[in-house]
Amino acid sequence: MQSNLGEIIKTSKSLGILGGGQLGKFFTAAAQKMGYSVVVFDPDKQSPAGKIAEKHICKLYNDLEALDELKSSCTAVTTEFENVPAETLRYLEKDIVVRPSSKAIAIAQNRIKEKNFLKKIKTPEGLMPVGNFLVIDSIDSINNIDERFKIFPGILKIAQFGYDGKGQIHVNNKNELKAAFKTFNSVPCTLELKLNLESEFSVVLARSVDGKFIVYPTIKNSHNSGILEFSSITYEDISSLDSHYINLTKRIANELNYIGVMAVEWFVAEGNIFVNEIAPRPHNSGHFSIDACVYDQFDQQVLALTGNELKKIEIEFPRSVMLNILGDLWFRDGVQKEPKFEMIAGLGINLHLYGKAEPRIGRKMGHITILGLGDEKQQDIMKKACSIRDILWKN
Ligand code: ADP
Ligand code: MG
Repeated sequence: MQSNLGEIIKTSKSLGILGGGQLGKFFTAAAQKMGYSVVVFDPDKQSPAGKIAEKHICKLYNDLEALDELKSSCTAVTTEFENVPAETLRYLEKDIVVRPSSKAIAIAQNRIKEKNFLKKIKTPEGLMPVGNFLVIDSIDSINNIDERFKIFPGILKIAQFGYDGKGQIHVNNKNELKAAFKTFNSVPCTLELKLNLESEFSVVLARSVDGKFIVYPTIKNSHNSGILEFSSITYEDISSLDSHYINLTKRIANELNYIGVMAVEWFVAEGNIFVNEIAPRPHNSGHFSIDACVYDQFDQQVLALTGNELKKIEIEFPRSVMLNILGDLWFRDGVQKEPKFEMIAGLGINLHLYGKAEPRIGRKMGHITILGLGDEKQQDIMKKACSIRDILWKN
């Protein structure tokens, strides 16, 4: 069927997803709910999405024969993580629909490209607010740092493949920076000024083939050891900055000619906002939408991929809070044991376990949505989220 959106992919077709973790699993379930069958491409035999998809191609991302098989078994492909090699996406793009494009992913998967792209974007106020940063790719690039440029205390981050705070070292001076750079085997990095963070937010939006947006309410995030712990909808404390983040996030998506779901992480420091990073996919902080909204971020990912119109955002539980469940919980007394999730049953929560075979420290094993029910205030929901975390940790 033709529409002003172009060709809509029929439900008799298959959709592909690169990566079979929890984001791929939620995408697969959303696509299946709309009538599509799904092919998961992930080298891990145990991948959570691979277990529920119609087909799982269990090969490496640079295996051209396997990519040809993917091309012949689906009409359109998306991705659940940014570390899929951009060449893989370019190879697929020659013959099938790839959304978001390889160009957008190539920028989001490399901090150097990402920062250089962001800092050039024009906004009504001037330029996109990016914190001080430098590219560190050699000892010379360290020796040449101008002492007058405010960059310490800083965070050295590997340009590619970092996630959940991994691939980052805090440094206070050039000597520490040199040692940290060596620890990373001298791979290209960014060095960012460590900001005095007041808060962190994310904006999750979807952009359709014809450039229309739907935007979820701004989400407030709190981290523990560099990993997201709590996300809450900013229902009762929507700040004057809210529409500002949203407009800037849309600006980034337009500049990337983006199709699909995208999240941008924002920092607030000393009253100013700074863009942190782009996630070219649904985002952990948007998981509240699975339980709190009629159409969640994965539904919108399927709609954008298939060339459909996006669905208006309807929030049923506007005060919801999400709590991540990390593998650490399996090691709470130093020995491995199952968490007692039965202790929190019936507390107005939804527990999502991702079906990962092996718990590991720092590994995302699941999440809990604490639904904002009845007259409860958001701060009460937050308290409840903390007490649920404590129950799980103390038992
Ligand atoms: P990841 O890809 O692992 O999510 P981020 O760059 O988002 O990497 O860093 C993870 C977390 O570390 C951020 O959410 C924030 O809490 C902290 N962080 C990162 N960069 C900075 C910075 N420049 N200043 C202060 N805190 C930062
Ligand atoms: Mg991040």
